[in-house]
Amino acid sequence: MTALAVVAPVHMAALRELISAAKAPLHFLAGGTDMLIAGRSLPEAGVLVDVSRVEGLAGIDMRGRDIRIGAATRVATLADHGGLRAKLPALCHAARQCGSAQIRNRATIGGNIANAAPSADLVPVLLAAEARLVLMQPGGRSRETELAGYAHVPGDLIVEVILPSESLLSHSAFVKLGPRLDLTIARLNLALVANIQKDCFGALRLVAGSIGPEPRRLSLAEAALAGRRLAPPTLRDFISALTSEVDMAIPGRASQSYKRRAVAGIGLDLIACLTGTSPRDRLFEEALE
Ligand SMILES: Cc1cc2nc3c(=O)[nH]c(=O)nc-3n(C[C@H](O)[C@H](O)[C@H](O)COP(=O)(O)OP(=O)(O)OC[C@H]3O[C@@H](n4cnc5c(N)ncnc54)[C@H](O)[C@@H]3O)c2cc1C
Repeated sequence: MTALAVVAPVHMAALRELISAAKAPLHFLAGGTDMLIAGRSLPEAGVLVDVSRVEGLAGIDMRGRDIRIGAATRVATLADHGGLRAKLPALCHAARQCGSAQIRNRATIGGNIANAAPSADLVPVLLAAEARLVLMQPGGRSRETELAGYAHVPGDLIVEVILPSESLLSHSAFVKLGPRLDLTIARLNLALVANIQKDCFGALRLVAGSIGPEPRRLSLAEAALAGRRLAPPTLRDFISALTSEVDMAIPGRASQSYKRRAVAGIGLDLIACLTGTSPRDRLFEEALE
């Protein structure tokens, strides 16, 4: 016998009332691709709230200055959204590389954030875009916070992800390296949001996943690019900074030597993706000479 109750509200007002009046702990379920996979045990008590059908909790709203993404928006929707592709293509690239078509059709952006896996693919892009979260906390109080530094607390409902317009720069890219080409969990991923004008890097933000317990902003590698021309010496300094970032993030770890070499390769892929060039271009070959 389990003491776990299951509810599936369909209206935002009902969800808010449930959260406001809850006496027992609430556990949220969205796509279930992390929570329901074999081998994971479900909570034994409290209320399991299926939020996947709540009207108004899914959808991408681009009518205002900022982009607002409902927490129950499916990864497949992010992957294929034309408006998002024009403003933050890296998020579409990352979404397209999350699991299989079946996983993308169930998985949500809120679940990707709350699950807090070091290898989560959407989170590095959201951090590079300085995303903000709208939360509904026990008691029904709403609060807005930066994703950077946010540690998910069970019982907090992520309602919305906000991409502030001033943080969306002219270019963005995402690359990922895993043990397989498809349906693979990242051993390393990188997201970059940058301004580029006349082959010169302006403001930029670079975040890596899977080096350490949580995604990490790479300030040394950012400094190697900012204000410089897209040319082999810049790329050489960038690779060297990326390698140092891995050394600082996971010193002495078994994966350190593999990741310090791997990051150089995907670092150049990232710049190629950002600039719409081929990683086989002469520019990248010269950077490695
Ligand atoms: C085969 C397979 C392949 C995968 N491949 C990838 C991959 O390539 N890249 C990747 O990033 N991930 C991958 N994942 C992980 C998973 O699909 C993602 O993390 C997904 O985004 C989770 O979303 P969900 O809606 O399914 O979460 P759920 O399983 O429903 O929930 C996960 C956690 O988040 C909490 N939660 C969910 N929504 C909310 C909310 N709105 N507010 C507060 N808490 C919430 C739940 O309580 C739970 O603790 C894979 C999973 C599988 C099974």
